Amino acid sequence: MKINNHILDLSIVVPIYNEVDSIPCLLETISTILKQKNYAYEIICVDDGSQDGSTKLLTELAQERTDLKAVILRRNYGQTAAMAAGFKYATGKVIVTLDGDLQNDPADIPLLLSKLDEGYDLVSGWRKNRQDDAVTRLLPSKIANSIIGRVTGVNLHDYGCSLKAYRSELIADMNLYGELHRFLPALAFIEGARITEIPVNHHARRYGKSKYGLGRTFRVVMDLLTVFFMKKFLTRPMHVFGMLGLVSGGIGLLLGIYLTILKFGFGETIGDRPLLILVVVLLLAGLQLFSFGLLAELLMRTYHESQKRPIYRVREVVGKSSSEEFLQNSN
Ligand code: UDP
Ligand code: MG
Repeated sequence: MKINNHILDLSIVVPIYNEVDSIPCLLETISTILKQKNYAYEIICVDDGSQDGSTKLLTELAQERTDLKAVILRRNYGQTAAMAAGFKYATGKVIVTLDGDLQNDPADIPLLLSKLDEGYDLVSGWRKNRQDDAVTRLLPSKIANSIIGRVTGVNLHDYGCSLKAYRSELIADMNLYGELHRFLPALAFIEGARITEIPVNHHARRYGKSKYGLGRTFRVVMDLLTVFFMKKFLTRPMHVFGMLGLVSGGIGLLLGIYLTILKFGFGETIGDRPLLILVVVLLLAGLQLFSFGLLAELLMRTYHESQKRPIYRVREVVGKSSSEEFLQNSN
């Protein structure tokens, strides 16, 4: 896909929560750079329940400017929700996200796009020279990044960087919850996307203050578990739980038979043996795991079918035949 300049190519999605001082400069910088490059673009600012006048400013600016769409949320829902709202209103073929606090540099957008053009579905920014507090931000982030990398199997240096470029088809396939926006690369990986990263600029916050502290680490860990789970078991929970259930139940059964033989074959008393308790626990656990697997299987099917979510993703179909017509007719 080449970025061509005639139809709307590019949607820039910016979540805004109390960033009134940054907004004018942010919009100017983005539009200067994109106009220079001759992109057909739109900027979608999502106001996430700001209380500092960002809402009013955005509303006014959106009426003046032709390149700005302001999506005003009713209250503060958090950055992930704000981004999801932005995605919903984005119409471009490529979607770029960045922060509204001028910490990301809009001058990096063209670099992300040319990388995307090399055949990637997602290009993530890597804040090589990150300008944030060392103890509360950089250290937790470094640890989190390495854990996320290991758990999800996507190796990026910096998951937290908001500056990312996506092909819009990819976004359409993903659902966002919780603090999941930082796991977008991992979710994209589950959807079979080609992912890469490039170093980008990062500036210290000029106005306002960060919306996050150490408390975020905990929520990120919980979301990581969710993503890990999704990646592993999304389409085949029974393989995992059923197997565990069979192993546990199987061992329980064997030990149970052994005890039964002792009791009836050799007349030993088994009522005071710890092994008996183990047998009971193993059998119950096996039963539970097995039925949990079946339930999870049902849930997953409901999940996929209710969303008409296929269990595969097609990158492209090559060769012309009547299949396209067929698809159109059958819809
Ligand atoms: N943000 C948001 N809703 C929130 C918190 C943050 O829309 O509840 C936006 C915020 O305005 C900024 C971006 O998310 O554009 C990143 O926030 P911040 O700069 O505070 O995070 P940091 O860069 O410190 O990680
Ligand atoms: Mg920031």
